[in-house]
Amino acid sequence: MRIEVVAVGTELLLGQIADTNSAWLGEQMALGGVDSHFHQAVGDNLERIVLALRTALARSDGVVVCGGLGPTHDDITRDAIAAVMNVALVRDPAIVERIGQMFSTRGRAMPESNGRQADVPVGATPITQMLGTAPGLICPVGHKVIYALPGVPYEMYEMFSRAVLPDLRRRMAEQGDTAVIESRVVRTWGMSESGLAELLAPRIEALDAAGGNPTIAFLASGIEGIKVRITAKAADTEAAEALLGAEEEQVRAIVGEATFGVDDDTMESVVADLLKARRLTLGLAESLTGGLVASRLVAVPGASDWFRGSIVSYASDVKYALLGVPAGPVVSAEAARAMADGARRVLGADVGLALTGVAGPDSAEDQPPGTVFVGLARPGAETESLEAHLPGDRDRVRQYANISALDLLRRRLIHDGSG
Ligand code: ATP
Ligand code: MG
Repeated sequence: MRIEVVAVGTELLLGQIADTNSAWLGEQMALGGVDSHFHQAVGDNLERIVLALRTALARSDGVVVCGGLGPTHDDITRDAIAAVMNVALVRDPAIVERIGQMFSTRGRAMPESNGRQADVPVGATPITQMLGTAPGLICPVGHKVIYALPGVPYEMYEMFSRAVLPDLRRRMAEQGDTAVIESRVVRTWGMSESGLAELLAPRIEALDAAGGNPTIAFLASGIEGIKVRITAKAADTEAAEALLGAEEEQVRAIVGEATFGVDDDTMESVVADLLKARRLTLGLAESLTGGLVASRLVAVPGASDWFRGSIVSYASDVKYALLGVPAGPVVSAEAARAMADGARRVLGADVGLALTGVAGPDSAEDQPPGTVFVGLARPGAETESLEAHLPGDRDRVRQYANISALDLLRRRLIHDGSG
């Protein structure tokens, strides 16, 4: 089943409001297994709305049109639908009555103009309005259909879920089309989008050649890493899940360790799970992040099981005195390692993780902004350090440093036994 969205409103074209209705409808239809190949936005102009509706009906099985059902002069979606259906508009006394009641419960008289909202194209079925004054419409056009919904987002959401989706399902079932579409997001860190795309290109080509189900798409998400979205279409949820599971395995095998989780997993939650599984506690020494890493880690429920604490060793002499960093430069691999050892010792933790660097905007110790050293001390391994050169302003450098440090820990914990 193919359904097209037509959003009506000159304000959409002028950029005065963003077309969030189309975005929401697109997502809902995808979840409901409905294909949507086109979205249109059109101004409050009768001829052009008619053209948009005819265009949509010519290439899809139906249309969801939203907006332009209000009582004012420029609300002409009803007129356009009647023109497309080639029928008259007839005022429905029951709807007039209902609108009148909505006004009287608020202690007001119904303005004459609201009568327009009770006009129904002959052959259409009104959708009772629960929240606003405008009813929706289900309008058969041959074996196709136009659904008209109000533009006000919360009215539109309610009406779509209550009346449109069930009607769509019924139509799909009649056509033997009961597909569902599900997706899963594989989360990655540490690769560029182009690097990832290159790695996955052969797999994407193979999927395309095999009929394009499932599909793979990329979404660069800044400090959340790069997301790989797998979308599968199947007869039921179980079959779609099976396709997603199999494809997730493929993607993981290709992408390797850069994959840190799926869907709602975060770098923090994944590190937390690994620490718990290995029965290890963690202590931090933070310089440029100033407690940011600790703050994100303690947002994970149950952090007290594995998190010892963080030393915000910002000034150099705190690093020397409290953590035993040897006198000398503090933006260095050596300082990062000493901080990690110090955190482990002072906090009585199994694992010590440390961050030192230059957040910017100014340089420090002749190192440019974005220079970051991560130190990691853990049982059964030599204390190590990682040097990174991170992009962006002060805030982004601190955020990237946080994720990079947790990612180093994650990659090491994957390989450590359960000791
Ligand atoms: P009403 O019956 O309440 O007058 P309507 O069907 O006439 O609703 P519009 O007048 O087109 O709808 O829009 C009402 C309001 O809903 C707009 O001012 C805008 O804030 C919001 N709106 C309309 N269309 C969209 C859209 N596509 N995306 C997001 N918001 C929208
Ligand atoms: Mg309006």
